[in-house]
Amino acid sequence: MSLLYLLGTGTPTPTKWRFGTSYVLQLKENYLMFDCGPATTYKLVKTGLFPTQIDYLFFTHHHSDHDADYPCFLLCRWDQSTGKEQRLQVYGPQPTEWITERLIGPEGAFCHDLEARLESPVSQSVHENRGGSLPRPEMSLDVSDIRPGKVIETDQWTVTTAPVRHAEPWLESIAYRVDSDEGSIMFTGDTGPCESVSRLAEGVDVLVVNCWDHQETMEKNGEAPGQTGTLDAANMAQTSGAKKLILTHTGPHLTKPGSREKGIGDIARIYKGEVIFGEELMSLVLW
Ligand SMILES: [Zn+2]
Repeated sequence: MSLLYLLGTGTPTPTKWRFGTSYVLQLKENYLMFDCGPATTYKLVKTGLFPTQIDYLFFTHHHSDHDADYPCFLLCRWDQSTGKEQRLQVYGPQPTEWITERLIGPEGAFCHDLEARLESPVSQSVHENRGGSLPRPEMSLDVSDIRPGKVIETDQWTVTTAPVRHAEPWLESIAYRVDSDEGSIMFTGDTGPCESVSRLAEGVDVLVVNCWDHQETMEKNGEAPGQTGTLDAANMAQTSGAKKLILTHTGPHLTKPGSREKGIGDIARIYKGEVIFGEELMSLVLW
C-alpha cells in the first residue's frame, strides 16, 4: 500500500485551513517529501509521521511557500536523530545547495544552534537519553542542485523531472514524477500548462496539480501566466489519462464554500476521473 500525505495545500497567503505546500509520499519503507512550505515539520508530526522518517526531500522551486520550513525541518530532523538514521538526500533546482549552505554551513544562519547542541552538556545528555551516543554526530546530508530532466533511481522507485513554466527567469522550477512497480504519481508544482508537463504526465496514475483559482478569474485578473486554473487542471488530467486528480495549492478564493463546488463542477465537465479537493493533514491511499 502506498500513501500520500497532504501536509500543506495552500499558497503564500496564510489562512486558517491552509498555508504553503508540502506532501509526503510513502512507498513501502521510503518516505519522500516534496516541498517544505510554512509549518511543514509541525504538520508532518500532526499526521503521525516524524522528521527522522523522511530520507528524501525534493524541491519544485524556491518560492517561500514551498521552502520556508526547510531550516526547521533540517534542524529538527538532526536534533531528534540518534545518529542511526539514513542520511538525508535533498534535491532541487538551484539555489538549493546555496540555501542549505547559508542555513547550516559553518557560517550559516543556524551555526550557533548547531554548535550549542553539539557542545552543551545538557544537550549531550538529552541526546544520550534519546538513544544517541557521544560525541554527538554533526549534521550530514547530501544536497544536489538538479537540472530538469534529471532521473533519480533506487531499486524501489524512479523519480523523473521536467522543466515547467512558472517564474522564469527569476526562479527555476521543476515537476516530479515518481514511478514504482505498483503505480505512478506526478507533482506538477507551480506551473502553467506546457508541453514538458503534459509529456511527463502521460499515462500517470495520480496527478497532483497546484490549482490556483477559477480559470475565468485568472484570465481576467492577470494571474494566469505560470499558474494552473481549474480548467487547465481538468485538461491536464484528462489528456494524461490519470485515474485520479488531486487539487492542491488552492488559493483563498477557490477554497471558499460554494466556490470550491463550482470549481469541482467545472473540472468534472472536462475530466472523467476521480477529483479530490486536497485538504491539509489528509492522507490518501494511492494504490
Ligand atoms: Zn511558486
